[in-house]
Amino acid sequence: MSESSNNHSDAWLASAFTMGPVVLTITRLATGRLVEVNERFLTTTGYTREEVLGRTPLEIGLWINPGQRADGLNRLHVGLPVREIEADFRMKSGEVRTWLLSADVIDWHGETGILTALTDITERKYAEAALRASQDRLAGIVTSAMDAIITVDADQRIILFNRAAEQLFGYTAQELAGQPLERLIPHRFRRAHQGHVTHFGQAGVTNRAMGELGAISGLRADNSEFPIEAAISQVEAAGQTLYTVILRDITTRRQAEMERAELLEREQAARVAAETARRHATFLADASRILASSIDYPTTLTNVAHLAIPSFADWCGVYLLNDQHVITLLAVAPHDSANGARAAALFHQYPPSFMAPSGVGAVLRTGRPEVVAEIAEAMRSAAAHDATHLEQLRAIGGVSIMSVPLIARGRTLAALTFVSFQPDRRYTADDLHIAEEVALRAAQAIDNAQLYQEMQQAVQLRDHFLSLAAHELKTPLTSLTGQVQLFQRRAEREKHLTERDERTIQLIMDQVARLNKMVLALLDTARLETGQLAIERVPLDLCALLRRSVDAMQATVDDRQIALAYPAHPILVVGDPLRLEQVFQNLLQNALKYSQPPEPISVVLTQTADQVCVVVEDHGIGIPATALAHVFQRFYRANNVEEQHLSGLGIGLYVVKEIVTLHDGMVMVDSTEGVGSTFTVVLPRDRQLDVQRDGSEARDRSP
Ligand code: ADP
Repeated sequence: MSESSNNHSDAWLASAFTMGPVVLTITRLATGRLVEVNERFLTTTGYTREEVLGRTPLEIGLWINPGQRADGLNRLHVGLPVREIEADFRMKSGEVRTWLLSADVIDWHGETGILTALTDITERKYAEAALRASQDRLAGIVTSAMDAIITVDADQRIILFNRAAEQLFGYTAQELAGQPLERLIPHRFRRAHQGHVTHFGQAGVTNRAMGELGAISGLRADNSEFPIEAAISQVEAAGQTLYTVILRDITTRRQAEMERAELLEREQAARVAAETARRHATFLADASRILASSIDYPTTLTNVAHLAIPSFADWCGVYLLNDQHVITLLAVAPHDSANGARAAALFHQYPPSFMAPSGVGAVLRTGRPEVVAEIAEAMRSAAAHDATHLEQLRAIGGVSIMSVPLIARGRTLAALTFVSFQPDRRYTADDLHIAEEVALRAAQAIDNAQLYQEMQQAVQLRDHFLSLAAHELKTPLTSLTGQVQLFQRRAEREKHLTERDERTIQLIMDQVARLNKMVLALLDTARLETGQLAIERVPLDLCALLRRSVDAMQATVDDRQIALAYPAHPILVVGDPLRLEQVFQNLLQNALKYSQPPEPISVVLTQTADQVCVVVEDHGIGIPATALAHVFQRFYRANNVEEQHLSGLGIGLYVVKEIVTLHDGMVMVDSTEGVGSTFTVVLPRDRQLDVQRDGSEARDRSP
């Protein structure tokens, strides 16, 4: 810098040249050549003082817009200053920077010079350009956004309404400019909406995400409503508080949501229904099984009541009705619950009346079921006898109740009452159907049980009568037999009877003997029934016993042949000789009775290591296949014997079987109708007896 400054402005200039942040140059007005630059110029442009002094900025390549420079010079030539024009300058490095240029004419050592001050505004320009671009972009986004964007001022007056908002609401931005935001909200929501926006920005609420406010409704220009989702954000702009509301039409989404919820609900309902159906089916199946398994119906019904808990009811009561129309509470399930105990106590305190217009009494009286889907307070009041009763009924509670009658052969025997304490279990027609199914099976079970009891009683009565009759008949029969025998002997002695009288006496004797046998058989069944038929247990030779039986039987028939086959040595068993004789006589009698002369009868005795076996075979009428399984039952007689008028009591085989069983043996039958029958008696062999036999055989078989 020249040291020739000689006035005050020169001093200022000098200091500005050395230290300021501003680029300064001095140019001769006449030539446009630079005569001075400050340090800042040099560091900023990258040129040296030698490279620039004495040259014009255009020559140096610094000014890149000659037209702009010429304009500035023209102003200065006519004495006007240049103020803050933007001009681009190229640095030595080639980089172009924007400077803000101001110039004034000054006195430069007696010449007219131009003092130029330049400020680098390149960065500011960039920032401004970026800001402009971002503002443009933002405006573009707001305008073209898919969501409706509305900006309101602090009084909630609309100051911005974008294109999407116009389409959504059916208003133009001009129509709504300055209008309250409320116009876009249905009347009934306006108050709530004010709350939303008024409280907005307070209590630390500064921003809200889409949907956070929950869905609200929008009101279109045509007054139609639609669901919207809104987000509000607070913006501070130029010292003013503004709110930006972003809205989205969620009609489609809402619809989809509703459809999904509906589907979900339906699916859940279907699942619940399936589960209920499964539980009901299980309940019914289990109840049926229990009901079919026992004839002890009080226990069975109690079990069914317990089975209903919890799948079908929370409480179940079983009420019985007797012939005098008295209702009793048979069972309560679950009996250990507080409600169960309360209900049972209540029953005893206020027993239900058979004549009651509703409730279990009515169900038992009319035989019609009763379902109360929802127990209303009014019903409790109507059912209560007094205030205490009502209080207790309330304490028990219950949401839904159902009573079904148990009817068998037209008679109402009992009622089952199911109670639900769960609000989501209200009894329906479906439940009633299940309950009625259970009631039907239960009624059948009760009926069967009662029939069985009645039958048992009848059988007992019959047995009692038979036993009584047999005993009563026995006494006169014994005396009759004795008297006839006496008479027969006396007549033989005195020989005063004609041959015809003798035949008559013999006939009487035979019939008395027959009668005797029948009475004895009856007595035996009576004894067997009461377990009073005892057998003796003595060692005996079965060969000898059979011989006696066959001989006795053979003596009564001359037109029949009874063949007996047995081993040469004795066959020893332990048993009651009289009772075993009775067994074989019965079998032989049947063989004779159910076959025709001259068909022979055969009796064969064999033995194995453990058993002895007696087979009695005939070639008679045989036994129908369907009757085979029953011939050992008391009083059973096959059809074919009834058809052929062959008399009998149907007791013989029963007694045979019982006696053989008492001997630890078995009796079996094999028969073909029209061909003949084979009865086999198997008795256990006593090994100990076999050991003893070696010494005693000869003695036993000697006559
Ligand atoms: P009852 O002979 O008095 O009828 P049982 O108890 O001795 O009574 O015999 C029962 C039934 O078994 C007879 O009614 C008959 O139907 C059948 N039955 C028994 N033995 C024979 C047999 N040998 N042949 C054909 N049927 C027989």
